[in-house]
Amino acid sequence: MDDTTLEAMRTVLRGPVVSPRDRGYNEARKIYNAMIDRRPAAIVRCTDVADVMNAVDFVRDHGFELAVRGGGHSGAGTSLVDDGVTLDLGPMRWVRVDPATKTAQVGGGSLLGDVDHATHAFGMALPFGITSTTGVGGLTLGGGHGYLTRKHGLTVDSLLSADVVLADGSFVTANAKDHSDLFWALRGGGGNFGVVTSFTFQLHPVHTVAGGVTLWSLDHIRDVLQWYREFLPQAPEDLSGFYASVVVPPAPPFPEEIHGQKMCGVVWCWAGDLDRVDAAFAPVHEPAPPAFHFAAPMPYPALQTMFDPLMPPGLQWYWRGDFFDRITDDAIAVHAKYAEGIPTDLSMMHLYPVDGAAHRVRPEDTAWAYRHARWSGVIGGIDPDPANAQIIKEWSTDYSDELHAHSMGGAYVNFIGEDEPQARVRAAYRDHYDRLASVKRAYDPHNLFHANQNIEPAAP
Ligand code: FAD
Repeated sequence: MDDTTLEAMRTVLRGPVVSPRDRGYNEARKIYNAMIDRRPAAIVRCTDVADVMNAVDFVRDHGFELAVRGGGHSGAGTSLVDDGVTLDLGPMRWVRVDPATKTAQVGGGSLLGDVDHATHAFGMALPFGITSTTGVGGLTLGGGHGYLTRKHGLTVDSLLSADVVLADGSFVTANAKDHSDLFWALRGGGGNFGVVTSFTFQLHPVHTVAGGVTLWSLDHIRDVLQWYREFLPQAPEDLSGFYASVVVPPAPPFPEEIHGQKMCGVVWCWAGDLDRVDAAFAPVHEPAPPAFHFAAPMPYPALQTMFDPLMPPGLQWYWRGDFFDRITDDAIAVHAKYAEGIPTDLSMMHLYPVDGAAHRVRPEDTAWAYRHARWSGVIGGIDPDPANAQIIKEWSTDYSDELHAHSMGGAYVNFIGEDEPQARVRAAYRDHYDRLASVKRAYDPHNLFHANQNIEPAAP
């Protein structure tokens, strides 16, 4: 981008515009996944809705590629485009809780931790993801699942309204009454339809939960997964627990003798009556004696931040996902094989429960296309060392290729890997794809917002 164009852009914006010639450019283009190294022509740090409107108009009229950054956590790195413009919503991190209506309005660049912190003070929370540094924007627009999903649904099931800047630079509010087609698409359709400058959510009464982890030796992985697949779906919705194949981190609360061991486990959240914690976790002894078990009451934000230190920004990430409605014995054999071969200490496989309250929303009511799924699976190859990029990529890809036959055929859109084909986006939306493409044609007919898991506008 030449200096004249940059200057022209700066005159219509309040927030700073960072170009490759500016100090701070390399910092500004850093995203969570260090495997992605792209060089935008400019990064626009939007301070408010007007900045977003002006930036969208400017970028569109000058024919640049456009990307939108919320929290920068996308594994596929979709918030950066080479030689294009990133609209960084980072300065738009704010939360306003209304205790009377039990709702929160949240700026489009906020992180999960911003919301957890603000709502906790009022004894309320949202079903969000499990790492507090993830962006509300990308997580919500993809659907959003986490510890409270069994009890309170997906993140989109709590979305009441969204303020959106569209591809033509106009501003609309989408909710059940106004722009209801757009509101439907925003609840799972990703960043395809515009820039969400703020979200309004219904909050839920959640304050102190019992969080915990149970780990078993990998020798028991078959028994554990067979037990888990029966136990969790019939457990009270107050209980959630994601299955994990992991390498035990060398840190408390894990005892030294299991540090560095490959193990299988469940990470728990009990969001019910705290007098019943012991009863809730008593069954963990059923599949095999645990090598480690811990569960204790804690503020919900403490559980939400539990994994933050383990997963700092700047690691290499390569992930693949798929939805599962059952965990078959054949799938368990695949899990057992690849758990033995976890290539690096941070690499993992997780199965996140998406049943319970999420199943009570009708499939046609939101763009989330897997209402009958019980688990959203992700295989994450993760390591700090770029030299291991190929190893973690191969493990994730081989594992995912072998497991796919035992899945429902598609992945959570937020777990689609960087280099996966367009067919995977179609599979993520399956019978909702055509309806999403029609909404796309209505709101973004020229596909300005295509740096994402893209839904192409339907043909006229
Ligand atoms: P970004 O990279 O900033 O954005 C991703 C895409 O979202 C952008 O390309 C853009 O298209 C769109 N976007 C973002 N904000 C806006 C906005 N305001 N308006 C319009 N478009 C926008 N997901 C879960 O559901 N549950 C989990 O528990 C979970 N855990 C995770 C843990 C880690 C460590 C990581 C890295 C990811 C996790 N995810 C989880 C996946 C997460 O939902 C996606 O990575 C999501 O894309 C992150 O959103 P972001 O805003 O941080 O990402």
